[in-house]
Amino acid sequence: MNIFNKCYNYTRAAQVKAIGIYPYFQVIEENHGPVVKMNGKEVIMAGSNNYLGLSKHPEVIEASKKAMMRFGTSCSGSRFLNGTLTLHTALEEELADFVGMERCLVFSNGFLTNQGVLPTIVHRNEYLITDKDNHASIVAGTLIAKAMGAKIHRYQSNDMESLENVLKQIPMDAPKLIITDGVFSMTGYVVNLPRLVELANQYKAGVMVDEAHAIGVLGKGGIGTSSHYQLKNGADVDLVMGTFSKSFASLGGFIAGSKEVMNYIQHHSQALIFSASIAPANAAAVHAALKLMKKEPERTQRLSEIADYMRNGFKKMGMKILDGITPIIPVVIGDDMKTFQFWKALLDNGIYANAVISPAVPPGMQLIRTSYIATHENKHLDRILEVIEKVGKEFGLISNH
Ligand code: PMP
Repeated sequence: MNIFNKCYNYTRAAQVKAIGIYPYFQVIEENHGPVVKMNGKEVIMAGSNNYLGLSKHPEVIEASKKAMMRFGTSCSGSRFLNGTLTLHTALEEELADFVGMERCLVFSNGFLTNQGVLPTIVHRNEYLITDKDNHASIVAGTLIAKAMGAKIHRYQSNDMESLENVLKQIPMDAPKLIITDGVFSMTGYVVNLPRLVELANQYKAGVMVDEAHAIGVLGKGGIGTSSHYQLKNGADVDLVMGTFSKSFASLGGFIAGSKEVMNYIQHHSQALIFSASIAPANAAAVHAALKLMKKEPERTQRLSEIADYMRNGFKKMGMKILDGITPIIPVVIGDDMKTFQFWKALLDNGIYANAVISPAVPPGMQLIRTSYIATHENKHLDRILEVIEKVGKEFGLISNH
């Protein structure tokens, strides 16, 4: 048997392409934030994680350009050896201060951060307790920790009874870490952090929160999930993880926590030690985006207003959505093929959103994940609502009366 047979026999994507409804790897020809160009046509972007709309902000672009001129296009090495610039250390200080932690470490991206931190912290015969819907990068880190002898327990998503049942099975004095998304990437649900923290205290577990979709979105000035619940990073949450690919309009990831834990990670995480540090332009973009987030909190406010406006719009038209408070608003379609067809109908009407099928969501919960940008104008939002109502009726997902 040829090792590559599985690849030769893989036809699912080709079948969907053949009928013209394949929604992935779509090419963007121009990016103007809330509007992009695809196949030569202007399309409203309702599927980006550029939550604050900063990826085309002049100050962010200018900062990137300047950094590139001063430091070049690449760091040509990892943080551990030749790849640490003043840009990285300054950014780490600012981020630590922003999320209210003692120290922070910048990784090459968010995926590598989760993948790199979890096995570094949770060792052989220690316990990693993870939400069933956590991001794939957390799953990747969990699998590495498991291969190295850590004990893994999963609990039902955001279900604190299920979490407590798991905690009850683990010896009280065994070292353990609970890891959760702050905002779940596909559903947009916010974790019940107050109860999770209570349980963590009761059962003596550490807490790590992935804030990829929470920073810039939730809490005072976009600080994230803890701030949203008036909890405190450092006191209630031990580790905050974040990415630069969303509100920070760049590429990279970070972990923040106490100075001792950061010192340990920085000398033990293979993902940090053996992967090149983020490019100067990326680091400078985050620095500029963070400055704008602090100076102009109205972006986070506008994003929240947009999210409410869209949610109300969907409810008014009778479209089934997963209800929440974040700018991730999934529209439930309920079937793989129908989701692809719905996606295509949206694109034909000038709207791009993300098609999500199982196993990313459970069967029956296939969805179109819409997400919003603080720079969406009302005319963009109304057009998205108008098109989704029209297509929803055509697909029998909204009744005509
Ligand atoms: N965590 C979550 C919850 C995410 O949604 C993502 C990105 N989709 C990541 C981590 C990985 O971040 P990055 O894009 O920086 O690799």
